[in-house]
Amino acid sequence: MQADLFDQRRLLELQAVDTTLTQLAQRRRKLDADPAYATASQRLRALGDKAANLTGDIADLDRDIDRVEREVDLVKKRAAADRDRMAAGASAKELEGLQSELESLARRQGTLEDDELELMERREALDAELAETRRQLAEAETVLADAEADRGRLLGEIEAETAEATSSREALVINIPDRLVELYERIHAKQPIAAAELVGRRCGSCRIEKSPADMIPIKSAPIDEVLRCEECGCVLIRTELPNTAPRKLASEDELKKYE
Ligand SMILES: [Zn+2]
Repeated sequence: MQADLFDQRRLLELQAVDTTLTQLAQRRRKLDADPAYATASQRLRALGDKAANLTGDIADLDRDIDRVEREVDLVKKRAAADRDRMAAGASAKELEGLQSELESLARRQGTLEDDELELMERREALDAELAETRRQLAEAETVLADAEADRGRLLGEIEAETAEATSSREALVINIPDRLVELYERIHAKQPIAAAELVGRRCGSCRIEKSPADMIPIKSAPIDEVLRCEECGCVLIRTELPNTAPRKLASEDELKKYE
């Protein structure tokens, strides 16, 4: 295939834009896979669940405390009634029975009050745990909001740069002959680098240095001949040659630069 060397060199600009687009796509994939956001929302969910469970446990404890307090009230009322009956005058037998019941009620009250104390201590511990969980929850909300903001900012940058590179690409493609673009696209579909500079004897894509023997056909090729790297298949662009008229053979001086 023949193409003006100047047009061939435009493939390098196209390649640069495509490399940028590939890097942008990689950045986008990396951002999508970034664990920071998932970790932050997971932590927020876990803390939210913990706070809900603690609130439920505290409500259960409050009900238990109420129940014990009502029992204590009942015991106290019963004891007061017994004392009233004793004061009102009772038989010796009755007094003995009331006395025994009062002792039993006092023991029951003691046990209930111990239970209540224990329940209240547990409630206090749960209250402290809930307060700490709420503090961590607020912290996690900030972390998540920051992660979301970072992600949004980076995504915006990537999208803006992608739009810019895409429009540069469109403008470039219009200015390169179709056949050359088609060749480039065909190679680019198979490999990331479809066009590279020939630097000395080295291919700018695969970095393999050509042997002097391999350089013979390259050196003798007309200046507008589209060359391909034998190793990687990319379009090999001679940038060290001046852009001379198509179909003209490179002069000896120009070719010496490849030696
Ligand atoms: Zn190569």
